[in-house]
Amino acid sequence: MNGWHILGAGSLGSLWATRLARAGLPVRLILRDQAALTRYRAAGGLTLIEDGQASLHPITAETPHSDMPIRRLLLACKAYDAEEAAASLAPRLAPGAELILLQNGLGSQEAVAARLPRVRCIFASSTEGAFREDAFRVVFAGRGHTWLGVPGQPQAPAWLDELHGAGIPHQWTAQILEKLWRKLALNCAINPLTVLHDCRNGGLRDWPGEVSGLCAELAELLRAAGQHAAAAGLHDEVLRVIDGTAANYSSMYQDVAHGRRTEIAYLLGHACQEAEHLHLPVPQLQALLLRLRAHLHARGLPLS
Ligand code: NAP
Repeated sequence: MNGWHILGAGSLGSLWATRLARAGLPVRLILRDQAALTRYRAAGGLTLIEDGQASLHPITAETPHSDMPIRRLLLACKAYDAEEAAASLAPRLAPGAELILLQNGLGSQEAVAARLPRVRCIFASSTEGAFREDAFRVVFAGRGHTWLGVPGQPQAPAWLDELHGAGIPHQWTAQILEKLWRKLALNCAINPLTVLHDCRNGGLRDWPGEVSGLCAELAELLRAAGQHAAAAGLHDEVLRVIDGTAANYSSMYQDVAHGRRTEIAYLLGHACQEAEHLHLPVPQLQALLLRLRAHLHARGLPLS
């Protein structure tokens, strides 16, 4: 099959699978195991809820152990699952296979690429929003945009047109690392503080000193990492995001509130690790990481 395989029938995986399938493109879902496949078949497919309207999409699904070769794979799992999930599919990847890595943060992409050196890894960064209302029922919660790219490669693959046809707003960029770093920095300046101060994004207006201190360290880190464009105007954008999303709870806040594992190792943890690697002192980011880990530990949640 010269179509799409999508690993992970969670929020973003379902959002992509249902839009590709309704555009008539061949899509196969890869679910965790036989038990998940049985539950999926009982549900009759994936349900997408968009503008209050539910639609059922009976997309073909399989487990990682199917023997059908994979040519193009969207890896739509959390960053902490990416390396193992990709490695489990290694025997099925056809020569010249392409992997689109939809994970937030940084670090998991490198781990996947190191495990699968013969595969072309395409990085993605998305501002679309979705959440799981129930198993195999996903709500399209926020329109957004997805950047895709391979660092330093300006030429987009021909199949990108399929995303136009499926109504998935996107753009190819050779500066994908800049996009990923910028999103990571915004996340580090906002999400951990919302967890520690137990507030919505807008609540951070009460902590301007903490926010500006973190932004200064993050901008310095980005510049030291060679990501000058990602550093430009960071503090102003953080303040705009805090105002523009004042009534929202951040994704990390929601993960902690629901007792779910966070992607901390690929966000604030990755920023601190990169600073250490560059011998750059970032005392405020380090202190924030320690406070956040203590908070997670107290709630019995994984620290990485
Ligand atoms: P999610 O709802 O938790 O979905 C992840 C899915 O991957 C789950 O269905 C999970 O299965 C599945 N999975 C994990 N390992 C697997 C394996 N080995 N084999 C098969 N399936 C596997 O996560 P998400 O919200 O879509 O997030 C995916 C990534 O996109 C994250 O890095 C996130 O930060 C980023 N992102 C999300 C949004 C959003 O609005 N949701 C927006 C921007 C970026 P189980 O259910 O069995 O665990």
